[in-house]
Amino acid sequence: MICVSIGRGRMQQMIAEHKLLVEQGAKLVELRIDYLDRHPDVAQIVRDRPGPAIVTIRREQDGGRFRGTEAERLQLLRQAIVAGVEYVDLEDDVAGSIPRYGSTKRIVSVHDFRRTPADLQVIHARLAALDADIVKIATLAQTPHDNVRMLSLIQSSPVPMAGLCMGDIGAASRILAGRFGSPFSYATFSSERQLAPGQLSFRDMRDIYRYEQITKATEVYGVIGDPIQHTLSPLIHNAAFAHLGLDKVYVPFRVPRPNLAEFLADAPSMGLRGLSVTIPHKEGVLAALSEVDPEVEGAGAANTLIFENGKIRGYNTDLQAALESLEDSLRLPGQPKEKSAVEGKTVLVMGAGGAAKAIAFGLVRRGAEVVITSRSPERTAALAQRLKCRSVDWAIRANVKCTVVVNCTPVGMHPNVNESPLEKHQLKPAMTVFDTVYNPESTLLLKHARAQGCKVVTGIEMFVRQAALQFKLFTGQEAPEELMREVIRRAIAPVKATEASAGTSAPSRPTIKAEEDLPSD
Ligand code: NAP
Repeated sequence: MICVSIGRGRMQQMIAEHKLLVEQGAKLVELRIDYLDRHPDVAQIVRDRPGPAIVTIRREQDGGRFRGTEAERLQLLRQAIVAGVEYVDLEDDVAGSIPRYGSTKRIVSVHDFRRTPADLQVIHARLAALDADIVKIATLAQTPHDNVRMLSLIQSSPVPMAGLCMGDIGAASRILAGRFGSPFSYATFSSERQLAPGQLSFRDMRDIYRYEQITKATEVYGVIGDPIQHTLSPLIHNAAFAHLGLDKVYVPFRVPRPNLAEFLADAPSMGLRGLSVTIPHKEGVLAALSEVDPEVEGAGAANTLIFENGKIRGYNTDLQAALESLEDSLRLPGQPKEKSAVEGKTVLVMGAGGAAKAIAFGLVRRGAEVVITSRSPERTAALAQRLKCRSVDWAIRANVKCTVVVNCTPVGMHPNVNESPLEKHQLKPAMTVFDTVYNPESTLLLKHARAQGCKVVTGIEMFVRQAALQFKLFTGQEAPEELMREVIRRAIAPVKATEASAGTSAPSRPTIKAEEDLPSD
């Protein structure tokens, strides 16, 4: 069950928001009485509630906003119990002084906004002994391993336990809590109004992650990276799982670089079957692989991991997706797929990072004459040497006589949409221009290319294909590529277009905020 936290300054707003949530299908809300400006009439709030609720009155020291005296706060909590609210949240230091009464269930809670303490089990035992119907422990995740500790505590708890890790590293624990037996997971009414660090919105939890359908049998997939809040992979993979009715969920995991090895060792204990890998881990994961396919070896990077029987297999679907996207656009009608469409063509690859390495390797293997250029001469030279191909200085890249141009730099990516790695006049009508940047879909480079009459290949095409290939590795089934394409286009569309298409089933971009975006409470 998803419990939506409501924190509003006015009582009428709180009640109206609760009504709206009930209409939208919310089965439980947390009424954050401490957010109300004036002296709250808790009895009336409980009487007028349109659905089941938890009453919480958090002190400032626990991340709340209650500014009255402690005696007033305890009095309000007792009023909520007498009025018959379904649940009341009692911090561990006051739970002993507020006795059980009527049918109200007691959530005995503790919050730690600085860390996830080492003695979680001891804390749990202390809370459970306070006549708790539900033990709630909310702590800040400092490392991804804190999520694992929290989830396994939920799983082993003899008393129902609502456990969660806060912060963007902890967001995964909120999505997976139900799988490990948590009676509910907290969400926020809207992604703009988080009441605790790392909270996801009710809509994201319900529509993207299908939280209510997650059970202990649900297979877990995900994406690792750092940062991770801008990733669109959860949107398209979860939409595809839902479309095919698969009991699988795809979760974003923020994994800082130093925690990578530990995370991969922990992965099976979280139910993980497969992972997408993004910046900065595509090269780092290689050390953990038990089996490597030739494309991973050639590209020197993996973007997909499969966990099976204690082993980790690595794949690089970026490479195949990029090559297929490009070759499909170059191939003449009737030309067989097996025959290379880039053989003998001169291809200028701009960039010498992960994407460039994979794409240039694939191009060389398919017989293209690759020319590497990037703003870092050492990286350019190292890649050219590795692939035994030509390189040119970044300053003279436009002088290369080529038929295909591939942009593997982030130049032109949102928000720098007015930048292009080549000027319009530097593109010739006979060229094919492939921009790996996918946000926006129509980059300035591609606009220039279209204006010059060039063929274009978009980063969206590559993105959808690499995700579809991952999907096949994850599920053994063909991916619903058209749906994936539609979902990603909607997610990156300007706001007006998104609004215009509202009402169709594909969800919009998920929101997991970075730590620095969060309010201090
Ligand atoms: P990366 O490893 O960080 O490499 C980025 C490359 O771009 C480096 O060579 C870097 O040069 C260069 N660069 C960065 N900023 C630049 C600038 N302002 N001017 C010129 N060169 C610049 O990143 P990556 O993983 O290869 O990703 C590169 C791009 O590919 C990203 O924009 C990403 O959107 C795109 N991509 C798309 C897909 C897809 O599915 N469509 C998949 C993967 C990647 P330095 O070494 O000097 O920093």
